[in-house]
Amino acid sequence: MSDNLFSLQGRRALVVGCDSGIGLACARAIAAAGASLVMSGLDSERGEALAREIASDSGRSVHYRSVDVREEKSVETLVAAAAEMMGGLDIAMNNAGIPGPAAAIQDLKAADFDNLFAINVRGAWLGMKYQVPAMLAAGHGGSIVNLASTAALSGLAFVSAYSASKHAVAGLTKSAAIELAPHNIRVNAIAPGPVQTGLLHNMRVNRSQAGHAPPASVPMGRVAQPEEMAGTVVWLASQASSFVTGSIISVDGGVIAA
Ligand code: NAD
Repeated sequence: MSDNLFSLQGRRALVVGCDSGIGLACARAIAAAGASLVMSGLDSERGEALAREIASDSGRSVHYRSVDVREEKSVETLVAAAAEMMGGLDIAMNNAGIPGPAAAIQDLKAADFDNLFAINVRGAWLGMKYQVPAMLAAGHGGSIVNLASTAALSGLAFVSAYSASKHAVAGLTKSAAIELAPHNIRVNAIAPGPVQTGLLHNMRVNRSQAGHAPPASVPMGRVAQPEEMAGTVVWLASQASSFVTGSIISVDGGVIAA
C-alpha cells in the first residue's frame, strides 16, 4: 500500500462515458492522482483532444476510445483495448447516462423508456460484465464506481424512468459487490445531487417545458460543480476506501438528509 492512502500511482483506470460533466472531471482527478487512464465516450474528436490535454497536465498515459454503451460489442472492444493498452485494469467508472424526457407515467413513450434503460442500466451492467474478467485476470482486486443519483434513493416525479434506472444501478452495484467481495473487487456507486452539467440543464428544461415544478431545493443552497464529485470517486478508487463495498454514497449537499 502506498504511503499516500489516496494515491492511484501505478493503477490502471477506465472511465466509460466521459466526454463532459462528472465523468470528465473524475477522469482528470484520476489521472492527477497518478493512474494511467483510458477515457471513452461518443465524441472521438473532442475526447482525443481532452485526453491529450489531461496527459499533458498529469504526466500520465491517457488515451481515448469511442464507445456506445448501448452496443455490447462496442463495450467489449473498449474494455479489451483498455486492458491491453494499460497492461490490465484496476479501476473502472461507469458514468454514461442520459436524463430522458420529462413526462407523466401515462405519457412516457415506451421507446424513450427503453433507450434510457439501454444507456443508464444495461450500459452500466455491460461495463461491469467486461471489466470484471479483466480485473479477475490481474488477480489483485479492483474498484468499480457506478453513477447512481439521489434519484436512486428517492423518487423524482415526472422523470420516473430516470429514477427507476438509477434505483436499478444501485441494485446492480450492491449485488455485484457481494459477488465480487471474495475477489477483493469493490463495487460502489456515488449518488450525486444536482450537478451543473448538460444533463442537469436538459432535465430542468424538459421538466419546465412539460410544466412541472423543479425538484425540492438543496440544503446547501446551490448545485454542485462536476469537480465536487471527483474527491469521492478518487477515494472510492483508492486504498483509502479499502473496506467500502456495496455502498451508495450520497454527494448531494444534503438533499437526501432533507
Ligand atoms: P453529461 O451529459 O455531461 O455526461 C454524460 C456522459 O454520458 C457524457 O460524457 C456522454 O459521453 C456519456 N454518454 C451518454 N450516452 C452515451 C452512450 N450511449 N455511450 C457512451 N457514453 C454515453 O452529464 P453528467 O451530469 O456529467 O452525467 C454523468 C452521470 O452522472 C450520468 O450517469 C448521470 O445520470 C449522473 N448524475 C448526474 C447528475 C447531475 O445533476 N448532473 C446527478 C446525479 C447523477
